Amino acid sequence: MVFHSKKENKKYYTSSPPLNKDLHKKKIQIIDLKKRLIKGIDWFIKAWDMLWDKHGNPIHINSELERKFSDRIVEWLDLQKKLRNVLDYDRCIYGVGFDKGFCPSHSPVKCDGCM
Ligand SMILES: [Zn+2]
Repeated sequence: MVFHSKKENKKYYTSSPPLNKDLHKKKIQIIDLKKRLIKGIDWFIKAWDMLWDKHGNPIHINSELERKFSDRIVEWLDLQKKLRNVLDYDRCIYGVGFDKGFCPSHSPVKCDGCM
């Protein structure tokens, strides 16, 4: 909200201007987290393909890769929680500007913005 003081010929803003330091910091954190989450999806897609044979049977059961996959899912969900709960970002991690974005359809993991 803006109100204009005729006496001082100045405009006053009741909330802080849009590009204050905190908001800028928050935007950078959001961009950084989205990048890390997208990198994670890239890895999940590659790893997922290695966990199944071409007939759809699971391979590498109890392997190092499978353990890594579960660990990374936990880390990835933590990062996403931070993005949603701390930074209040509610769209898809692939969203840029006004583009809503979607997680790749062949990804074994989808973000909460796609649910
Ligand atoms: Zn998504």
